[in-house]
Amino acid sequence: MAQSDMSAPLLDSGDLVESVALSVGDPAVCVLGSGDFSRSLSSRLRGCGCRVLVGSRDPQRLAPGLFPEGTELKTQRAALEALAEAGGSLVFLALYPEHYPSLLALRPLLAGRTLVDVSNASGLKRGGESNAQRLARMFPCSSVVKGFNGLSAWTLLTGAHDHSRQVLVCGDCPSSKLSVLVLAQRLGFRAVDAGGLCASGALEEAPLLLFPSWRGPLLAAATLFTFFYLYTALKNVLMPYLDRGENNLYHLPLVTVNQALPAVALVTLALVYLPGLLASVLQLYRGTKYKRFPDWLDRWMCARKQLGLLSFLCAALHAVYSVCLSIRRASGYMILNAAYRQVKAGVENSWVETQVWRSDLYLSSGILGLGVLCVLALTSLPSVGHALNWREFTFVQSGLGYTSLVLSVAHVLFFGWDFALHPWAYQYYLPPVFLLSLLLPCCVLIGRCLLLLPCCSVRLERIRRGWESERHRPKQTQDNGDVFGDV
Ligand code: NAP
Repeated sequence: MAQSDMSAPLLDSGDLVESVALSVGDPAVCVLGSGDFSRSLSSRLRGCGCRVLVGSRDPQRLAPGLFPEGTELKTQRAALEALAEAGGSLVFLALYPEHYPSLLALRPLLAGRTLVDVSNASGLKRGGESNAQRLARMFPCSSVVKGFNGLSAWTLLTGAHDHSRQVLVCGDCPSSKLSVLVLAQRLGFRAVDAGGLCASGALEEAPLLLFPSWRGPLLAAATLFTFFYLYTALKNVLMPYLDRGENNLYHLPLVTVNQALPAVALVTLALVYLPGLLASVLQLYRGTKYKRFPDWLDRWMCARKQLGLLSFLCAALHAVYSVCLSIRRASGYMILNAAYRQVKAGVENSWVETQVWRSDLYLSSGILGLGVLCVLALTSLPSVGHALNWREFTFVQSGLGYTSLVLSVAHVLFFGWDFALHPWAYQYYLPPVFLLSLLLPCCVLIGRCLLLLPCCSVRLERIRRGWESERHRPKQTQDNGDVFGDV
């Protein structure tokens, strides 16, 4: 998105008076086009006490009751003339951009007016001329403002007081833009100045983007899940079948999924903290914080929130799956069979103290880890996160984040217990999945501990406060030193 021109002086006092008049008076607004967007916008405008003049190519054709009461339905020309008489200046173009040329005959009536372009892009062009810029080229005597395109006709109609909804507005004429911003505010939206008309392309394409910030994290989580699922299926289902003819296929829908999910949750959580570590190591190595990180690291840092939420999702699903494990039919049969074997063997008490400790510690660390992860997920909600100051936010995201990583690692270690020490755990030369899932989190925790050592932490702290090692200090400082020395 282009840079905002908020820093530039937007208004002189005359503009301000005009805009405030628009906000408190009973302005006339013209809407060209009589489709879905026009109808919804007209309802909203009428609801806010505006005089609405709808200009259609054929107003006779419009069924009665289609527009809210009080809307004046006219021909396009008559609507614009009425707008001029009423002293209004805002004209919404509720048409598709390919129909803009049909308005060329109305150029004299549109001169001096503010044309609000509500259109969206037809596809992701990534650059090139936007609809709003083309409109501005077609009507050089009007001022074009882009806005309202991010709202659907449905939202306009239903969200009567939706103050959380943003309306991004951009345009090159400050007073026209301000009129639209004020109107958006008056209609109950949060109006945001998005800069000059050069930002209109990004605004037009924004409604077409599909979770752009989630793509990388989702891909990472899906790849990890596929890997761990296939690995577990190979080790616990396919190989026993090929080796001993053991039929464990029933593991696939639930048990195998529940083995892959915690591994994904743990590795994804480690992926949240790994980029921060890499950034610290890079700063230590470079001896400065004034050098840009590589692009891939920047993108990774920006994806930490999404990775954290995906980790939380997998951990929560793992908890639900684990609770359900005991209510499945297979568990019932297995308990019955074990009880029968025990009775047959004459064993009265099967209590194993170490296993009792193991399972309690394993469950407790898992529940606590999930709880802390839940707090982290909650603070990522804007409404909660905004209520925290910087120190609180850092404490939660970093302090509690590492706590949840430690608890999750402990959960897996208690689950594994001494399992990893037995050769039969490496059947078919495949290490157990929990051991694989521990590799990255343990590296992250060890890396974090190393960075906490005074030799690293003190230097890092200095670098973050602006200190630079000798080889990075700007030459100018040294030159200045020489000059002062000469003096
Ligand atoms: P629509 O229901 O198809 O209405 C478009 C209007 O354009 C028609 O009612 C018609 O009005 C006029 N029109 C149709 N053919 C024309 C032609 N050949 N020449 C001149 N005018 C013609 O479309 P809409 O859904 O209201 O969308 C209008 C604009 O709003 C689009 O640019 C769209 O991208 C934008 N938008 C829509 C929504 C939404 O939810 N619908 C959301 C955001 C943005 P008359 O017959 O009365 O002249």
